[in-house]
Amino acid sequence: MSTTPAATPPLQQRRAVVTGASRGIGRAIALALAAAGADVALSARSQADLEQVAAEVQALGRRALIHTCDVTNPTEVAQMAAAVIEGLGGVDILVNNAGISASHRFLDHPDEAWHNMLAINLTGIYYVTKAIIPTMVAQNYGRIINIASIAAKIGARYLVAYSTTKHGVIGLTRSLAAEFVSNNITVNAICPGYVDTPMTERSVSNIMARTGMSEEKALAALTATTPQQRLIESEEVADLTVFLALENSKGITGQAINVDGGAVMY
Ligand code: NAP
Repeated sequence: MSTTPAATPPLQQRRAVVTGASRGIGRAIALALAAAGADVALSARSQADLEQVAAEVQALGRRALIHTCDVTNPTEVAQMAAAVIEGLGGVDILVNNAGISASHRFLDHPDEAWHNMLAINLTGIYYVTKAIIPTMVAQNYGRIINIASIAAKIGARYLVAYSTTKHGVIGLTRSLAAEFVSNNITVNAICPGYVDTPMTERSVSNIMARTGMSEEKALAALTATTPQQRLIESEEVADLTVFLALENSKGITGQAINVDGGAVMY
């Protein structure tokens, strides 16, 4: 009886770093990269949550490193980058996923909330990428995937800080794509609509608290913004991340691709 040899996983030998890997989209991305064959370094602030995800990565037969780090702190980011580069022996794939959301009316927008949003969602990507990209330049290979949002392409009331940071993520993505094109490094952004994660659970709770709506109605208010009338699953974002990380996605760079059920068509 002949047996067909198992196909080599497409990201075998690849080494990935995922920020915000402790839950939600980041966790799904870490697991999808591992399922595709990559070893994965997981970063976020919560050690206990990272340990759970690391166990799931290891159950898929891949190496998992953990390094806690607040992306707003350049010293912690530099320490994380040095540790994962040493631990994995280099980095081929960087997924900048860590982020927060918050909604405020502009007329009484707290300055602290503005600065905090920029620090995490935008400057955090700047720090992490600056710390990791030299190793990609040295090895003449890299895949950087930034998790933006459809709020990177449209404005929305009460989301001025979030939308501003996500628009910034696209500018950063395109500029890095242009600057590192000759280093065989691609840089792309993914723009999800509302995804079924703890972040969206908090958004639903906020709508309920502000409007008195039931959970069902608050959720319906969010899904009504998409033609498919549903939340996106984290795994849908994770699968596109894996695709952009493939060797043969080398022709795709400087792009910002929506995963939003047709809500925004550019
Ligand atoms: P989530 O469930 O709240 O998870 C956010 C992740 O970011 C956690 O792992 C969190 O870990 C980490 N994080 C937050 N602040 C951090 C900091 N200062 N330093 C390091 N890590 C930090 O959110 P999610 O829904 O998975 O969102 C992930 C990304 O997708 C975000 O960039 C978000 O803007 C984007 N996105 C989400 C949606 C959505 O509907 N959910 C839609 C479009 C885009 P710790 O708290 O342990 O640090």
